[in-house]
Order: sequence, then C-alpha cells, then structure tokens
Amino acid sequence: MPSALLDALAAEAVGCTKCPLAHQGRTQVVFGVGNPDADLMFIGEAPGAEEDRQGMPFVGRSGQLLDRIMLEELGIDRQWCYIANCVKCRPPGNRDPLPLEIDTCRPYLDRQLELIAPKVIITLGRFAAQLVLATTDGVTRLRGRSHPFRGAVVVPTFHPAAVLRGGGEPMAQMRADFVRAKRELLAAGAEPWTSWAA
Ligand code: SF4
Repeated sequence: MPSALLDALAAEAVGCTKCPLAHQGRTQVVFGVGNPDADLMFIGEAPGAEEDRQGMPFVGRSGQLLDRIMLEELGIDRQWCYIANCVKCRPPGNRDPLPLEIDTCRPYLDRQLELIAPKVIITLGRFAAQLVLATTDGVTRLRGRSHPFRGAVVVPTFHPAAVLRGGGEPMAQMRADFVRAKRELLAAGAEPWTSWAA
C-alpha cells in the first residue's frame, strides 16, 4: 500500500529538522505531490520562494511551463504523475544545496522512489540529473539519452526556469526529451499511455 506509506513518510518529513535548512528561513517542507502509483516521476532540485510559500513543487512560471509541456507532449496533467525535489527545504537565497544538506535529505527521495516505483523518471535540470545518476556530467551532455536506473529509465532534461531564460532552442530540446520519455513509457507498458495506444 504505497499511498499509506508515502503519507507516513510525508508526515515524518513535515517536521524534519535533520539538516541546517530547517533553521534557515524555510516556511514549510515541500515533500512532493501527485499520484503515489504513478509510472512517471519528475525530480527537480529544491524548492524556490513560491514553492516554499505554497508547499508544492514547481509552481509559479516554471511550474506553468512544466504543466504546459506535460500536457502538450505527454497528454497528461499532474494527477497522472508524481513531482518531487531532491532537497525538500528551500536553501536561502536559492543557493545550491550544500553536500551535507543533500546527503541528509537523500533518504526521503530514495524512499519516495522505492514506494512510487516509477517506470520513467524525468530529471529537471543539472542538479537533479547529477544527483540521481551519480555523475558530474552536465545536463547538456546527459540529455538526449535514456539512462537505466534501478530497473527504471531516467530521461534528463533542462530545468523549466532555464528554458524560460534560454528561449527557442532549449524549449525544442525539452520537448524532444518529453517525446523520448513518452516512448520509454510506452515501451515499459506504463499507464495511461499504453491504454491510450491500444
Ligand atoms: S532539507 Fe530535508 S533533511 Fe533538511 S530539514 Fe528539510 S526535509 Fe529535513
């Protein structure tokens, strides 16, 4: 029963003070949202100011772009997937999370991955791709390929904020990455894509 276990993990995370980010201005822990049985999971870096305020990952302009590309290239909205960040609390000033913060928070993401067991994971941005794939390669090098990961497939792409800044070319590349993810979802027999294709 992944839903109850995920709820229990979220309840544990809500009061987490295990790393210094608990005391550096976070409003709330941004655990993750979506379908606990999803075949597709998105993973980003850490909450920004708006995420910290609302308690949800990928809201604001980046979230709107993610929702739009999700709908246009994958045909779904958020109820069909799960969205989380590597680090669950906002680093002050939107700085990169520090190694201690990353290591301390990592068990939450690992447990989310175990419980949700997605067939395809789309990492959003350099940080998430490097952390999940345990590499120092940049996202430009990692994207455009599918990477085996614990019985699933990781499809790295850009962070929506970088696409908003970068314009046409990164937008086209992000769309191509989502098309790749859809192919992987179909190949893995993932729902709802397999039912729609039947
Ligand atoms: S970032 Fe993670 S480990 Fe640190 S306080 Fe927040 S939930 Fe706990």
